[in-house]
Amino acid sequence: MSRKKKRVRTEFRKNRAPRPRQNEWTRRVHLEGIETPDDQLSADERISGKGELTRKRTVVGEQTTSAATGFDIVPDVDEAGTLHGRVLGVYGLSSVVQSDDGRQFRCATRRLLKTLSTDQRHVVAAGDLVRFRPSGVDEGIIERIEPRHGVLSRTSRGRQHTIVTNVDQLLIIASAAEPYLKPNLIDRYLVAAERNHVAPVICINKIDLVDLGPLVPLVGVYSQMGYAVLLVSAKTGQNLDRLRAQLAGRQSVVSGQSGVGKSSLLNAVDPSFNLRVSSVSAESQKGRHTTTTARVLPLTSGGYVVDTPGLRQFQLWDVVPEEVSGFYRDLRPFVSRCRFPDCTHIHEDHCAVKDAVADGWLDARRYESYCHLFSGEQD
Ligand code: GDP
Ligand code: ZN
Repeated sequence: MSRKKKRVRTEFRKNRAPRPRQNEWTRRVHLEGIETPDDQLSADERISGKGELTRKRTVVGEQTTSAATGFDIVPDVDEAGTLHGRVLGVYGLSSVVQSDDGRQFRCATRRLLKTLSTDQRHVVAAGDLVRFRPSGVDEGIIERIEPRHGVLSRTSRGRQHTIVTNVDQLLIIASAAEPYLKPNLIDRYLVAAERNHVAPVICINKIDLVDLGPLVPLVGVYSQMGYAVLLVSAKTGQNLDRLRAQLAGRQSVVSGQSGVGKSSLLNAVDPSFNLRVSSVSAESQKGRHTTTTARVLPLTSGGYVVDTPGLRQFQLWDVVPEEVSGFYRDLRPFVSRCRFPDCTHIHEDHCAVKDAVADGWLDARRYESYCHLFSGEQD
């Protein structure tokens, strides 16, 4: 990502929202839609032009070429009186921001940010690192959103929706039993992680229920590809110290099928979470989570875990079949040696991928899981 200072002229829409009242946050947010009043402009914005609809401002800020930010410009902010924080959740037009000292503020978004954003309706996302100006003990206004990395988004009806930003790793939680282990599902999450440039961590829970011997080859295949694999039990506490160490100081998105023990594990890692653990069977839960509102949970020991109900089940990362082989780390080295440049590695002759399976260079189960994913089967 390259940056340089830049002045830009930007169109401003008419400020339709009435001035917000000072209290009754929820009501204000739900009933009116809050906008930052113009009298809160900071010194680096200058209004010129006449008439509200045609106003333009010169904004001084850093230009960012990162497509992930959703912004072309990160405006300079007079930092006096502002705090640095992380957005823990976005609820309608307000965001809950945690300052570095651990306090939480309910924040509106400065109007300028909306104007500069490519998507004016969803400017702030969970996980964002922001500069905000507190107003009162627990309210404030977000003045700047720092450039993002690790953005997870989903496309719906042709539009990209940012779900969470600044993700360092994807925690793929599976269970050794109850529900039974589904390596193909792990592979599907791995593809999602690769596609979104987020480091995956495979975490197999409920090892108290099984004999570990049969898991060794599978763990070996993943480890050889360079993926971190943890074998844990929320119930007995086995290897939870390793999981804690893996989570410390990072922001991790938690994924995995219903019933594998995500809530139990998070509670075991940090009892302050107090997440609800389901006693019902996994199957009856299928399809229950429909929202995609991400919640960022601060770990007492530092770092954050992101609970995204909508991403727990996993049809969301839209990968076209032809891209899949590029996201299979172990397949990738062979792909360029196939005779046909558009080889799908499914039915073609002279396919280097199939040869690699036959010669034992490539794990047969991984190849089968590739075929499943390519053909769009679920697990
Ligand atoms: P989630 O849907 O992924 O959040 O899963 P939950 O945390 O709600 O757990 C589902 C069920 O698995 C609950 O009945 C838990 O008590 C059980 N469970 C979770 N972790 C373990 C574990 O390590 N060992 C065993 N035996 N059961 C577990
Ligand atoms: Zn091929």
